Amino acid sequence: MDDLLSELVSKAGAMSDEELSSLMRQLEVLKSGREKQQERHEVAVDGRLAMPCPHCGSVSTMKYGKYRGTARYKCKDCGKTFTSTTGTMFYHSKLGVAEWKKLLEGMVLNRSNADIAQDLQISA
Ligand SMILES: [Zn+2]
Repeated sequence: MDDLLSELVSKAGAMSDEELSSLMRQLEVLKSGREKQQERHEVAVDGRLAMPCPHCGSVSTMKYGKYRGTARYKCKDCGKTFTSTTGTMFYHSKLGVAEWKKLLEGMVLNRSNADIAQDLQISA
């Protein structure tokens, strides 16, 4: 088991029922956020693969080079460009692994979101 995970589990074991349910709720929020982080995927349209446009939903898109190592696309309908992570939480997330660990630690210690955010220097 991962060190952080076993530490979390042992801390969770020492919590009151109220603290535990608070942790569960926060983990649920985190989990649903993570599901939204998934990259967009190409869909099959008329026998070819197309990346749907996150701006207008059109599938008339074409590959348009690369952006920060990710495939970039251009929408033929609205003319906007996007990458496979545009519009997902991952695209906006500036949190690295260390920050996520801090965030989890803060959650385990039952700190307020504002406190944690201040620590991470992000807005809550
Ligand atoms: Zn579009």
